[in-house]
Amino acid sequence: MSRILIVEDEPAMLRGLKDNFAANGHEVIVAMDGQSGMEKALSAEPDLIVLDLMLPKVNGYEICRAVRERELNMPILMLTAKSQEEDVVLGLNLGADDYVTKPFRIRELLARVHALLRRRQTPAEGTIRFGECELDLEAHRFQRNGVEVELTAKEFGLLRYLASHPGRAFTREQILNHVWGNSVIVTGRSVDRCVATLRSKIEADPGKPVFIETVRDVGYRFDFGE
Ligand code: CA
Repeated sequence: MSRILIVEDEPAMLRGLKDNFAANGHEVIVAMDGQSGMEKALSAEPDLIVLDLMLPKVNGYEICRAVRERELNMPILMLTAKSQEEDVVLGLNLGADDYVTKPFRIRELLARVHALLRRRQTPAEGTIRFGECELDLEAHRFQRNGVEVELTAKEFGLLRYLASHPGRAFTREQILNHVWGNSVIVTGRSVDRCVATLRSKIEADPGKPVFIETVRDVGYRFDFGE
């Protein structure tokens, strides 16, 4: 069971989310405006926050920023009214993990939430297993179906970064900063090329990837593919 904070000002939406999370065995805390959302995010120790962006009093971006400034690291799933790329990228850059666009199907939202909650069981070191794959973070080795597959340093770094944060959507800029650093001049296209070669090594069907998903107009997200 996880404790989920839902910050949402539309009563019908709030009720629907609350009932669904409760039915899935979660403890639910709710807030109907940004100010009480902010207070509960900072004091109620939720395991995950479902955060509407457009809220009375204090908006969702401010809550995101405040949570990360306090170095609270629970996952944050944003609810966006429109799939505007800039809104999503801004939220992700402020420290949100993922987003769904209204209207959404509740099953999709629950799947996203559960992917994010799995992060707590994902090792920061040791071995990450997904599908037929094993990523050994210490030995810097990758195996698929028990056979060693050689990854370039960038492919390994990219896979480690994404797989260490399952369910989190990363912008290309975040990936570049983390995996490439600022040592060389690269663009988002370099990320796309690296993702393409990585998929050819880890995915059963690189044309229909299940582990590294494309987040349209934004970047990429890792999923355990279950
Ligand atoms: Ca709203």
